[in-house]
Amino acid sequence: MKIFDGHNDILNKITKTENPLDSKAFLVSDPGHLDFPRALHAGVIGGFFSVYTSNPPSVPSVKDRMVLSDEGYRIKLAPALEYEYAHRSALKMIDLLFKIQEDSLGQFRVVTGLEELDHCIQNNIMAAVLHLEGAEPIQPNLENLPYFYEKGMRSLGITWSRPNKFGHGVPFIYPSGPDTGPGLTDAGKNLVQACNKLGVMIDLAHLNEKGFWDVADLSDAPLVSTHTAACALIPKARNLTDEQLKAVAESDGVVGVIFSVNDVDGGKRPKEDAPISKIIDHIKYIADLIGPDHVAFGSDFDGTKIPSGLGDVRGFPKLVGLLDKTGFTTEEAEKICNQNWIRVLSDTWRT
Ligand code: ZN
Repeated sequence: MKIFDGHNDILNKITKTENPLDSKAFLVSDPGHLDFPRALHAGVIGGFFSVYTSNPPSVPSVKDRMVLSDEGYRIKLAPALEYEYAHRSALKMIDLLFKIQEDSLGQFRVVTGLEELDHCIQNNIMAAVLHLEGAEPIQPNLENLPYFYEKGMRSLGITWSRPNKFGHGVPFIYPSGPDTGPGLTDAGKNLVQACNKLGVMIDLAHLNEKGFWDVADLSDAPLVSTHTAACALIPKARNLTDEQLKAVAESDGVVGVIFSVNDVDGGKRPKEDAPISKIIDHIKYIADLIGPDHVAFGSDFDGTKIPSGLGDVRGFPKLVGLLDKTGFTTEEAEKICNQNWIRVLSDTWRT
């Protein structure tokens, strides 16, 4: 089965090493969840490659920001990033992405339009969508938005789980719903409209609930969350409520189900020995609620802890096997594995 994946963090991971332009760390081998040879072998035909800027060293670690309670935990939001810092970091990751393309000898391509995407799929070229996770590298007056578009950005998450000039990220809290703060700022609302105009996909993962509904009211594109899970199963602030899931379906959008044990298993101390069926539970729940046209994979490989039974990207065939065992038809599984993402990109990019 061919796989199109909604989210990975390989670019962030490589650029944090001593050799930030090390394309071989993806193209040849990498000790993490993901590299090109293993992905190819697992049937991956493409996916969203996240340009995500980590918190600077001055920000206390997750462990230091975590407050435990009897029922769960709350991780205090990280402060907003400085524009210069985020901008520099984003350009580094974009440079790496194109270095990978260059060194792949035609086997890997950053796709910026539908013809190119189709060409890659027809010719077994792995297709990468350049996704900006958190709009901090964009100036609030949007002056440099066209620059990032020219660079190849075709998908944008308005926030990561921290505040920025455009909106308020959803914190990591368990148990909690996603209504954790105010909605989009005026700059955020302008950004939604500008992305619609350019045909850039807007990603709602990491946005709080009020921000989600602001995008739902304003956007003329399908609503998308690239890597989240269902709040009804695991009441974590980052997961989507049934009402949010229904809004995604009404817009003909899609939710990429994340593989993170924190989100699909939850509890006070989520464990890596969580069974991989937990991922399928969320896919099944969402498919039952809003239909198999609106759910997909959004692994978050190299950005989170995944069930040890899945291992790494080579675990995709196991998940496909479980979809079959759960009762999804081959046609439905194909939608979940690749077609839903491709449909939403087609409806959003338009050209
Ligand atoms: Zn993320």
